[in-house]
Amino acid sequence: MDGVSASRAEQRPYDALVSGAGLVGSAVALGLARMGQRVALIEPHAPAPVSAPEHDRRTLVLNAASINLLTHLGVITDRLPRVPIERIVINRQGGLGHLILDAHEHRALIGDDTDPERPYFGQVVVAAALGEALQACITAQPNIDCLTPATVSGFVQHADAVEATLADGTRLIGSGLIGADGNASLIRQLLNVATEHHDYGQSAMVFNCQAARPQPHTAFERFTPQGPLALLPQAHGRYGVVWIDHHRAIDEAMTWSDEALLDRLQARFGPRLGAFSKASPRQRYPLIQQRTPQPVDGRVALLGNAANAVHPVSAQGLNLGLRDVAGFIDAVAAHSDWPEALQTYQHQRAQDQRATLRYTDTLARTFAHRSGLIRGLGGLGLALHAAWPALQNRLVRSAMGFREPRAEWTRPGSSLGASKVAR
Ligand SMILES: Cc1cc2nc3c(=O)[nH]c(=O)nc-3n(C[C@H](O)[C@H](O)[C@H](O)COP(=O)(O)OP(=O)(O)OC[C@H]3O[C@@H](n4cnc5c(N)ncnc54)[C@H](O)[C@@H]3O)c2cc1C
Repeated sequence: MDGVSASRAEQRPYDALVSGAGLVGSAVALGLARMGQRVALIEPHAPAPVSAPEHDRRTLVLNAASINLLTHLGVITDRLPRVPIERIVINRQGGLGHLILDAHEHRALIGDDTDPERPYFGQVVVAAALGEALQACITAQPNIDCLTPATVSGFVQHADAVEATLADGTRLIGSGLIGADGNASLIRQLLNVATEHHDYGQSAMVFNCQAARPQPHTAFERFTPQGPLALLPQAHGRYGVVWIDHHRAIDEAMTWSDEALLDRLQARFGPRLGAFSKASPRQRYPLIQQRTPQPVDGRVALLGNAANAVHPVSAQGLNLGLRDVAGFIDAVAAHSDWPEALQTYQHQRAQDQRATLRYTDTLARTFAHRSGLIRGLGGLGLALHAAWPALQNRLVRSAMGFREPRAEWTRPGSSLGASKVAR
């Protein structure tokens, strides 16, 4: 213990150590720093400019709850390009099931959570631009030490602190450690907590393209027997495309010429938006579901994909991670003891995590099921939602991220600021 004490004295003590500066790690670091906590944010990859070719070109849908959180954190400003989604069109290729959700018709439910004059379900952002906006806030935040390039290689929990070791041998002391280090989380592996893993045998191919007859502020989700296809509105009549299919089909699709890609997109999506042109380069992502029922152990918590990774159908993954960030900040603000805060966090977030994973998994499996009967039942579900306002209301609430219990930081205009600092 002497050696540990000596190194503790050498190190600057932090309130929180955050491993991973992806979208979730960056957001939780900012939230904790905003409450006055001292944060070390550790990330192996140095930030690259948004124009760099290796950057994440995904088009992400942020729901209203996420928009509220990121606005409170100062990440969402007029400088971040966003396109509001006012209509969602969901249908099924070659069968029963068609649903249109219009934010204006659900104005009463949406309340003042979005713009009362032009209500929306969520907003579309480019992942790289969101990452850059988060990075700018982190750079300007004096309570965050951003250690990059650096990698957490291990940690030890003590009665009153947690000590993380970086790959270069540096040791850091904090009141708590957050593993926000993605799907293959090292922190999760070292914690040795139970994780359920499912491989969908599918990949997502993402790119964007121009539509000849764009429908402004309208997002499309089309279920095909091979997998869902989403078209998300961007500026100037372009659409972000998320095309999901079995690995082998995506292997092949990645080799098509742009012309062949656009022709096949047309065949899969139909004529509704006119002809497609000007395809961007493509990126691909293998799809899994990962669930960690108990993402907390003592002074260590897992957040984002490190804890729960979901299929991208209906755009829930980051939104769930951000609701977890909001719940985490609420819990840390409410307790003066870090392990107690983490227990509260785990308890309060379990239901939403379970429900969101179940929801995305059901959608992903039902509409791509080998049995036409099961796919037909999925279509019937859509038709029922179209006919039954109570079902639609539930869908709208969950699309907007209004799942109970709702963390303070996901509400519009909450009074946020310094509060107790958990130790
Ligand atoms: C095709 C596709 C489309 C999607 N669309 C949407 C959408 O529209 N809406 C939505 O809500 N969600 C969407 N998602 C899900 C969303 O992208 C993820 O949920 C989200 O990006 C997870 O963020 P994260 O920060 O938890 O993980 P990551 O983005 O994986 O970040 C983890 C970070 O940890 C770092 N790291 C790794 N190891 C270490 C270590 N040892 N030490 C320190 N740092 C480490 C990594 O470098 C990385 O920066 C989509 C996913 C896919 C695949």
